[in-house]
Amino acid sequence: MRKFLIHLHLTIMTKINLLGYTLSELEQLMIDMGEKKFRGGQLFKWLYRDHQTEFELMTDFSKELRKKLDDKFEFKTPDLLQTQVSEDGTQKFLFNLADNLPVETVLIPDFGSERKTVCISSQVGCAVGCKFCATGQMGYKRDLTAGEIIGQLVYLREEFGLDSFSNVVMMGMGEPLANYDNVVKAVELMIAPTGMMLSRKKVTISTSGYSPKIKKLADSGLNICLAISLHAATQEKREKIMPIAETFKLDKMMQTVRYYADKTRTQVMFEYIIFEDFNDKMEDVLALAKLVRGLSCKINLLAYNKVEGLDYKRPSDEKMHWFGGQLAPRVPVVTVRKSRGRDIDAACGQLAAKQKLGSKIDV
Ligand code: SF4
Repeated sequence: MRKFLIHLHLTIMTKINLLGYTLSELEQLMIDMGEKKFRGGQLFKWLYRDHQTEFELMTDFSKELRKKLDDKFEFKTPDLLQTQVSEDGTQKFLFNLADNLPVETVLIPDFGSERKTVCISSQVGCAVGCKFCATGQMGYKRDLTAGEIIGQLVYLREEFGLDSFSNVVMMGMGEPLANYDNVVKAVELMIAPTGMMLSRKKVTISTSGYSPKIKKLADSGLNICLAISLHAATQEKREKIMPIAETFKLDKMMQTVRYYADKTRTQVMFEYIIFEDFNDKMEDVLALAKLVRGLSCKINLLAYNKVEGLDYKRPSDEKMHWFGGQLAPRVPVVTVRKSRGRDIDAACGQLAAKQKLGSKIDV
């Protein structure tokens, strides 16, 4: 009977997932196991640089240490639930988290260049509630852990190799700066010189305008790129589509954005989704140009990707080019971006919305 109980205990004992552990956390783990601190650095390289998840194959560890690690730990990314591939090569991945909640990742190749951008999520759902956004309509479920954020990238590298993506943008589900600590921890793992080794210039946090956290990020020393989901260039219009503008006013937000650009010496990117008959007139061009005057920045214009059940309308290609043409002489850089993955619900939150976020995924 005792034998049976011991066996039962071993089989139901769950392993600790090391995904999301930083270098110093792994060093401490090794010390706690009676090993030298530098073993933590070796483990860090195996996991994040070499993507070796089998402890048995970590050849610079003794057999005894490999067994100890294997008995207690694992390095496991979230389960993949569904993928969609667009005609234009955009790929969407729907992951199932340990508590059966869905989260999305979108991989966007840039044809004619080596660039492949991966758009990752930082929360399940989102509390910001932008009126045009599928994720915003789901409400907020919870923050992702650092492991769940970095896990989206680790999954891609494990499945498709080191060059599966070149750039990372946190522009998927959620407001990254509302999950500041986990997001910063994940960024530190991305740019770690013995970890995922991404250049700071290739990692972007996109925010709807959390002013206090923009300042904190500027002072953090991370010096990564910042993108602002702007979508309207006046306080009045912004409040109509982004409730966050009532709390963090546009003028105050722009002050912190200018602070960020000065402090980090980076070029800030503004995302401006154009909605037919809302923010697509000459007065909007002029307001946008005035707002960013004197700031080193790039403005990306995007046509609204229709979301089922929402009233906003997509502008014509002619309108997009007209707007870009009017704006171009008035701002440092403007790009009219092609919509990607329109045939696969690639706008953030659309696939997860179809999984009915209010109830958990049945697998
Ligand atoms: S656009 Fe971004 S910040 Fe706004 S509701 Fe959607 S996920 Fe949240």
